[in-house]
Amino acid sequence: MNTPSPKIESQNIHVLCVGHASYDLIFSVPHHPEADEKIFAESLMSCGGGPAANAAVTVARLGYNAAFAGYLGNDPYGQIHFEELQRENVSTDLIVRGASPTPLSAILIKPDGKRALVNYKGARAPLPADSIDFSDVTPKVILFDGHEPALSEPLCAWAKSRNIPTVLDAGSLHKGTDALMFSVDFLVCSEKFARQWLDDDDPAQALNRLAERSPTVVITLGENGLIWKKGVESGNLPAFPVKAVDTTGAGDAFHGAFAAALASGQNWQDILRYASAAGALCCTKEGARPGIPDRETVELFLKNQKQ
Ligand code: ADP
Repeated sequence: MNTPSPKIESQNIHVLCVGHASYDLIFSVPHHPEADEKIFAESLMSCGGGPAANAAVTVARLGYNAAFAGYLGNDPYGQIHFEELQRENVSTDLIVRGASPTPLSAILIKPDGKRALVNYKGARAPLPADSIDFSDVTPKVILFDGHEPALSEPLCAWAKSRNIPTVLDAGSLHKGTDALMFSVDFLVCSEKFARQWLDDDDPAQALNRLAERSPTVVITLGENGLIWKKGVESGNLPAFPVKAVDTTGAGDAFHGAFAAALASGQNWQDILRYASAAGALCCTKEGARPGIPDRETVELFLKNQKQ
């Protein structure tokens, strides 16, 4: 029997994460199969995924109150993920369940870390704006991942009217991230997004151009850390040196920790350090969810750093 998660009062949510939830089946394989070839996996790891759902788990593991708003199907993968979120103490009150399938990925990882991925999204229409009632929720910070744009755009405008800080995790350029990128207070994007938006491989130029229209921009650069611009101030932060075994989910952990640190009132430099530590630690384990660190691990890691 499942233990119900303790109810988080909607008024006490530190970070509301809005967007995508999926389920991942991760097979370790000796090589990627050819046509008509049958291969045997050496191990199988399965867990929930999706940028906003992973960020919500990060917020909760870091000891803050997290809620996830998005969609999960009524199928077995949706149910497993729903229960996983409850076990992680993420509030599931704002999740819409339905007959459309839960997005599913089968990921084949070779010993050299190279991946092949099959994703099934189904043909579900985006959640309409009125599918979730947010009137009772007063989060300290809202984090969007750009999925569920019909839900996110009015929620972002509502947050603005209430002075609730908003963050966009822009992993790639698509309709959803495009719609929100200049509405949020903190545009935290990947190098890929910056390249797609600028149509050039020049993160420094992308940063300057994005900052002309956004109050705060961060571009994360994987093992090269990040660059940021906040009003007239700007800077960079190298990544913390770790033995990276799998970088999947580093961005999600970074964004979750960023939003949690923002919600807890940390200063700008500390927010960036905290988020970078969560991102780096996530790389030290296989898989996104298993790699997401808890509060104690991040605090101890930061204490032992010189930078
Ligand atoms: P995304 O997955 O969204 O592209 P990144 O790969 O840029 O995100 O990672 C986000 C942050 O996580 C980076 O800015 C960095 O702080 C940390 N990080 C990512 N990869 C590594 C790595 N190999 N070593 C240390 N830190 C990393």
